[in-house]
Amino acid sequence: MATGFGGLRMEVRLWGVRGSLATPMSSSQLRDKVAALLADATPADLADLPAINRYLDRSPHSWTYGGNTSCVEVSFGDQLFVLDSGTGLRALGVQLLKDGRAGKVGINMFFTHFHWDHICGFPYFAPIYFKDRKIDVWGGRSDAEELLATQMGGAHFPVKWANLASRITCHQLPEDVPTIIAGAEVRILPLIHPDRAYGYRITYRGRSVCYLTDTEVSKNPHRLNDVYAKFVDGADVVIVDAMYGFLDYHEKVNFGHSTIFNFIDFFRETAIGELVIFHHDPLASDPAVTALWDDAKRYKSVIAPDATWKLTAAFEGQHWSLAESGPVPVVTTEAFAPPRPAPAAVEAKIPAKSEAAAAKPKATKPKPRPPKAASKSAPAKPRPMRKPASRPPKPRPAPRARPAAKTRTAKPKPAARPARTKPGKRKRS
Ligand SMILES: [Zn+2]
Ligand SMILES: [Zn+2]
Repeated sequence: MATGFGGLRMEVRLWGVRGSLATPMSSSQLRDKVAALLADATPADLADLPAINRYLDRSPHSWTYGGNTSCVEVSFGDQLFVLDSGTGLRALGVQLLKDGRAGKVGINMFFTHFHWDHICGFPYFAPIYFKDRKIDVWGGRSDAEELLATQMGGAHFPVKWANLASRITCHQLPEDVPTIIAGAEVRILPLIHPDRAYGYRITYRGRSVCYLTDTEVSKNPHRLNDVYAKFVDGADVVIVDAMYGFLDYHEKVNFGHSTIFNFIDFFRETAIGELVIFHHDPLASDPAVTALWDDAKRYKSVIAPDATWKLTAAFEGQHWSLAESGPVPVVTTEAFAPPRPAPAAVEAKIPAKSEAAAAKPKATKPKPRPPKAASKSAPAKPRPMRKPASRPPKPRPAPRARPAAKTRTAKPKPAARPARTKPGKRKRS
């Protein structure tokens, strides 16, 4: 598996693409795929193991979009950025152990928001258990540490946040200016979602990936069109919340999610490389996601026939390898912090709410934190945690020219197109 470790390319890989709730494939869905595979196979396809593997490589029935919730890896140089910590994060942690990056790379984790489907993989991410491992957490709100600690507190998880061996430092990102983190530029965009969410644009050496989930642009598209178009213009990969089909959306207004059709409208004149349908409905089977993708391609051909960007539906393992197109940044990584000076403080408990309210911001932290982030690259004044955030106007940089063509791993062929599943009413997340 290609990794960003040691290289100058920006590697983007999807580890979880499902929305709201992890959705393992059912036995009946697996059986349908096996039946379709056997029905299509010729004797030559099954002649020996290499022939079988060649057949599986080209069959539309031999793969799945995946059932893990949101997690995107962005790797470059000796840095790992993680966008959201859904259940896909566990497999990313396993991969880091396999390829040796777990103890070497700088790790920065970014959260769109803190609904369960975007955080529940965090306690299963191996590097958080490495002694003195430095990990930096970033988000648009000031209480990330409290929210992540809550997930591991009480009766929710056996290992408590305060007892983690790693050194996790949480930061609040400003909305109005880009922040430089480990040599990459990070910008955030407030999204339309319950409990506040933020989209991201990460740029490294001239290549950009945008991550805009979860957001309900479909409720007020005219007001948001220019904002989103400006935010993504020039990006290589734009991953968006396109959870619902057109009719499904109208049964789920105010759930906080969108259709792909609005994003096609928004971006039809932008210079992006690829628009990616993401945060698939847990009620949508593989054929249903493919049907939505087909509808979207048909809509694009009508609404934006001159648009040169690709339109794809996210699947686990989808990968983009983006060649550098800018100067090499100076980045220094420290994967591990110096030994802890005060062992007694490690045992400090998360203060009760009453204590936390009475304590000063620093005193509410369950563990002592080093004064600096994992990277020595100076962030552009990220706000300290728990400090009330001012909300200044949001000037945006001018759109950039479209980067050069990118390479991408082979994508599976879409599955056959049975009828869409019929989602019922559900809770948003
Ligand atoms: Zn959500
Ligand atoms: Zn979500």
